Amino acid sequence: MFDNLSDKLDKAFHVLKGHGQITEVNVAETLKEVRRALVDADVNYKIAKDFTNTVKKKALGQDVLKSLKPGQMMVKLVKDELTELMGGDAEGINLSGNPSVILMSGLQGSGKTTFSGKLANYLKNKKTKKPLLVACDVYRPAAIDQLHVVGDQIGVKVFSDKENKNPVDISEKAISYAKENGFNVVIIDTAGRLAVDEAMMTEISNIHTAIKPEETLFVVDSMTGQDAVNTAKAFNDVLNFDGVILTKLDGDTRGGAAISIKSVVNKPIKFIGTGEKMEAIDVFYPSRMADRILGMGDVVSLVERAQEQYDEEEARKLQKKIAKNQFGFDDFLNQIQQVKKMGNMKDLMGMIPGAGKMLKNMDIDDDAFKHIEAIIHSMTPEERQKPSVINASRKKRIGKGSGTSVTEVNQLLKQFDQMGKMMKMMQGGGGKKMMQMMKG
Ligand code: GDP
Repeated sequence: MFDNLSDKLDKAFHVLKGHGQITEVNVAETLKEVRRALVDADVNYKIAKDFTNTVKKKALGQDVLKSLKPGQMMVKLVKDELTELMGGDAEGINLSGNPSVILMSGLQGSGKTTFSGKLANYLKNKKTKKPLLVACDVYRPAAIDQLHVVGDQIGVKVFSDKENKNPVDISEKAISYAKENGFNVVIIDTAGRLAVDEAMMTEISNIHTAIKPEETLFVVDSMTGQDAVNTAKAFNDVLNFDGVILTKLDGDTRGGAAISIKSVVNKPIKFIGTGEKMEAIDVFYPSRMADRILGMGDVVSLVERAQEQYDEEEARKLQKKIAKNQFGFDDFLNQIQQVKKMGNMKDLMGMIPGAGKMLKNMDIDDDAFKHIEAIIHSMTPEERQKPSVINASRKKRIGKGSGTSVTEVNQLLKQFDQMGKMMKMMQGGGGKKMMQMMKG
């Protein structure tokens, strides 16, 4: 995410390296580079200029804090200003209605249907919410089918009527259906076109007027840069929407949309999409995003993702198994699934401070666990439970079955064995023992 921009900003701050203090000259030089980096990232020129002017005033108007070097000071000022530009505080969505109706708008291909599913899944996981998805694209039967596929995948009911060509009518019927059947959130996925056009605007505006949603969200593909901002403006003029959803931030996004959309439409970005999977959704926190743009990582989001996947009940069961030496390959496989649910590897690593730069040129296999999984799948239930039975001929069979080699099978068995020992140590008040072991 934003690799290019992060790199260029980093270089801009280098101008100040070695300087003992902030001066007119070195600030101007640094900020010229910052502005160029922003414009290259597809931030509108005027926004970029206002941005650097504000930072300049702040930089020159204050003494450099004793504890900070000029370079660090500038990073802090730019970070604070980026946070401000992207919205300051995070803003949630209004779920006060019963049901709360959420209307999704945006162009075709922006990721509306995918995001509708992600949001439904996200709310469903909150336990107190029972969402209903509504298919309102009356032009493309395939779009209705797509929403059904998504709904099946996450176990959320989808309301649709292929015979009905009136989206206002479908929405109203869906809301009545939700009331009668105990759904407390209704997410309406509407038809988009390839570009802004009048018919689409009239249609979504009619739905909006008829159902008066608690929340109207505008979904936009962040890869489209300045276009994203222009499209947002067009939709906002008609709908006066409540928030923006930025999708596809996992791709090679330059960052312009994320940085400038708020200041153009004066509406907050509420969520971001970071992948095609249903779990790839994050609340948008301007300050964390600023950290990521500056290559400072985002440990808080990483921990949160881990917590979302953490199931206390499962963890307790696992602990018992470890204590009783019953932790087998099936459990291991289970753990791998949990990690995978957190998102793609490169994305996760990118949240670690400093790792972004390091990873840029590395080819991280998104399916880093493929071989391990294949090997475990080739084991019999007995072998998974009791790896000690795996002798030479079994290893050969497993290697063959999984398309790997005996060496790889051996490696996994060894790692698994070491992991088992480590886990036992951690459990049995083993902090001390671990330390001793590490000291050698
Ligand atoms: P719609 O026409 O607005 O409903 O868009 P879709 O939901 O069908 O999404 C269009 C394409 O973008 C699909 O191939 C999605 O899988 C993909 N997509 C949606 N959101 C994301 C995202 O956050 N990251 C990535 N990489 N792809 C996404």
